[in-house]
Amino acid sequence: MDSEEFREWGKKMVDFVADMWDGIPQRTPLPDSSASDATLIAFYAARAKAVEGIKTNLSSSERKEDFEEAPESDVYLHPFHDPAVFNQLVAYCSDQAHSSVEKAAMLAGVRLRKLRSGIDVAYGNYSVTAATLEAAIKEDRDRGLTPFIFIATIGTTNTCAVDPIAKLAPICNREKIWVHVDAAYAGSFLLCPEFRSMAAGMELVDSFNYNAHKQMMINFDCSPLWLKDGKSAVKYFNVDPVYLKHEHQATTADYRHLQVALGRRFRSLKIWFVMRTLGIENIQKMLRDSCHFADVFAQLIKDSMLFELFVPNYLGLVCFRLKKETNEVNEEFCEAINSDRRIHLVPSKQKSEDHVRYAYEVITEIAQKLLDQKGH
Ligand code: PLP
Repeated sequence: MDSEEFREWGKKMVDFVADMWDGIPQRTPLPDSSASDATLIAFYAARAKAVEGIKTNLSSSERKEDFEEAPESDVYLHPFHDPAVFNQLVAYCSDQAHSSVEKAAMLAGVRLRKLRSGIDVAYGNYSVTAATLEAAIKEDRDRGLTPFIFIATIGTTNTCAVDPIAKLAPICNREKIWVHVDAAYAGSFLLCPEFRSMAAGMELVDSFNYNAHKQMMINFDCSPLWLKDGKSAVKYFNVDPVYLKHEHQATTADYRHLQVALGRRFRSLKIWFVMRTLGIENIQKMLRDSCHFADVFAQLIKDSMLFELFVPNYLGLVCFRLKKETNEVNEEFCEAINSDRRIHLVPSKQKSEDHVRYAYEVITEIAQKLLDQKGH
């Protein structure tokens, strides 16, 4: 296989996976290494786009440099990555987003606002509402900040919650805010038509990523990233020394312009092998089986006197806790299970709700007292 075929087949394999999904129109696919890398790339691309927009809108007297050729100097600051503008930028994500979003904001040198999630009607889980996003945008614009990216999550790490893309993305499109969807865990489930409703609105997002190395039986690392407008994003990452020029430049996608590293592994070959060996039906069956097993376990929890579900189980994830116990006792409980070493559980912590439990106890106590006085 020569380098031309190598690029061509890499793209075809990721396109093949995309064909299994509805709602992902023609985009630039990039077989990447991890969800964290994909989020960072989205941050860098969105930040550069925002810097370009802000600098373009400056009057010529305010503008220190233009977007033309690098000046003939040994010291050069790339205009799309001008730190003088970063201070004006603010990124958004849910308070349920993975820590990799915080890391990306940290490395991109921009502010991050974590939007407070609430329980949604669709999934009974912790997601961001349109009203919360709108309010944050207004407040930040009033403070002179420029919101530039919103990281939505399909399948949060804590509880497998789904941010409603179809409601949030139109706001971001209107406000010229880049939307990146982190579907690291849940993305594989889009291979099953019955789960595709969680990706409604995907045609409105700027970038989308999932970890094929999580639930798709593909070994680490393989994490495809799709960019709605990969061709434009290339200019934000492009360095073009003469020793990297080649004759196919005009016709093939050069992934080095959309990542930090120059070289890359042949990750799509892993997708090819797994598809050839298992086939899409077997992967779908495995995904459906994991949901079925989770349903069985969740039913045991619901039937138990000791435990309760924290949120409805979804896509194979069951979040449960000891009934009427504090976070601290539940943490101790999780540690005890893990130190027993027969099975392993992963802890996750939501906002402390001891005050709600305390309020409920007071309400119950007073109600009971009143009913007793009345002889009920
Ligand atoms: N985003 C979500 C929602 C995740 O659940 C995870 C990992 O569990 C990540 C991002 C980070 O994934 P990676 O290890 O591929 O960077």
